Amino acid sequence: MFFYNLCSSSRGNSSFLGDLNGGILFDAGIGPRSLTKALGLVGLCPEKIRAIFVSHEHSDHVQGLEAFSSRYGIPVYGSRGTIEALLNRRLLSGKQPVFELDGPVEAGGFLITPFATPHDAVQSVGFHTDCPNGRSVAVCTDLGHPSETVMQGILGCDFVMLESNYDRKMLLNGPYPPFLKQRVNSRSGHLSNDQCAQTLEQLVLSGATRFALAHLSEENNRPELARAHSVEYLARRGMREGCDYRLDVLPRTTEGGRIDLS
Ligand SMILES: [Zn+2]
Ligand SMILES: [Zn+2]
Repeated sequence: MFFYNLCSSSRGNSSFLGDLNGGILFDAGIGPRSLTKALGLVGLCPEKIRAIFVSHEHSDHVQGLEAFSSRYGIPVYGSRGTIEALLNRRLLSGKQPVFELDGPVEAGGFLITPFATPHDAVQSVGFHTDCPNGRSVAVCTDLGHPSETVMQGILGCDFVMLESNYDRKMLLNGPYPPFLKQRVNSRSGHLSNDQCAQTLEQLVLSGATRFALAHLSEENNRPELARAHSVEYLARRGMREGCDYRLDVLPRTTEGGRIDLS
C-alpha cells in the first residue's frame, strides 16, 4: 500500500492511494496525458484506477476529470453540491458513472468517508479513508481553517496529507491584489503554514506518524519555509521529526516518490 502524489499546487492537484494492483485517485487537476504519464512513473496505468474522489469543483482539482474518467470509464464520486456544479458547468458529462456522496462509501477495497471543509466552493470535502491493511489516511486541502468537522475527519489517521498553502508574511507583503489576499486569508480560503503546524500538533497527539504538506502556493510560500514552520513548531512542543513523526513536502509535479503505508 502506498500514497503517491501526482501533482500538488494551485496549478493542479491529484494523488493516488493503493498498490500496483489498483487504487483510487483524489482529484484530477491535470490533463489526461499528464495523469497517465505521472501514473506510469510508478508502474501504474489508467486501467488500475477504480474511482476518482473529487474534493470540489475548482479547476485545479478537476481540470482532467472529464476527459480522464470518461475515456477509461472510471466512476466519479463527490458531494451532492460538487457533482451538481460539475454537471451544470459541463465539467462532467455523465458518460462515466457518477455518484453523490452523503456518507461512507466502499470503492476499490477502501472505505472512504467524506467530511465538510470550510472553503469558497459549493460543497467542498476532504476524505478519510480506511485501507484494507488497517491503515487510515486523510486527504485534506483547500480549507480556510481547521474546523471541528475537519478535525473529526482527520484525527486518528496514521497518515495525513494536509494543506500548508501560504506563509502569512509572504501573502501580506506579496503581489496579490487586496481582495485576493483577503480571500486566501479568510476562514473559507486556504490553510496557512501556522494553521497547518498547529493542526499537526493535534494530529501527533492523536497518533498520526506521517504527514505530507500539500497545495503550497507558488507566490506565497516556499517548500523549505512550510517544512521549517511545522518542524520547528512541533519541536517547541517536544515532538521530534524522525522520532515522533515523518514529514514530506509534496512537490508541485511528481518526482516519482511513493510514501509507503504498509
Ligand atoms: Zn485548490
Ligand atoms: Zn479550491
